[in-house]
Amino acid sequence: MLSYIDIHTHQLQENPDTFQLLNCIIGKEDFPAQPCSVGIHPWYVNDDIEAQFELLKSQASKENVLAIGECGLDKIIETDWNLQTEIFEKQIQLAKELQKPLIIHCVHAYQEIFAILKDQKATVPIIFHGFNKKAELGNSILNQGYYVSLGTSILKRNQDDFIKSVELNKIFFETDNKSTNVVDIYSYFCSVRKISMSDLQEQIVRNFQNVFRYNNIE
Ligand SMILES: [Zn+2]
Repeated sequence: MLSYIDIHTHQLQENPDTFQLLNCIIGKEDFPAQPCSVGIHPWYVNDDIEAQFELLKSQASKENVLAIGECGLDKIIETDWNLQTEIFEKQIQLAKELQKPLIIHCVHAYQEIFAILKDQKATVPIIFHGFNKKAELGNSILNQGYYVSLGTSILKRNQDDFIKSVELNKIFFETDNKSTNVVDIYSYFCSVRKISMSDLQEQIVRNFQNVFRYNNIE
């Protein structure tokens, strides 16, 4: 049994204790052989979005694709807002069709994303990745039935309030594009939350199995 789970990374690390879910940006990166998430990132929407979406569709149903994403909305980039919305909505529908969880990229667009998820009746598990905001917003995400994935931002110590109170069955951990070991993120969480590493590890494995329906973490 692997001890740690990193649910969102852009590069595999030399890390034999960790199950790593590699993210593949369709239209930019090659489709990997290992367990992965595939999606169209709002930073990398091609001019021909139909072709890019067809490519995504052809890969997304494969067995090693455990989730759709990262996808979402980003207010600080140039990509046209309507285009971002359109491609995001298509990916929500694809996740629903395939019954796979959705990994969300959200920059300054929480309210807009909440509205779209409701409007699109997104019934699959939804994970807000790289959650680096305060407890109030975190709780509002969880109250809507969604999950959060915490990354290296927690090491800056300004999410301690959230760590102390968050429902443990609603969280994941990730390294994203950082070279930090996910074990350091787990350890920091344990120290603030005052739980044992083994309890946290067990909880995250359960969360992963519930949400990703994947039992081969061995
Ligand atoms: Zn990412």
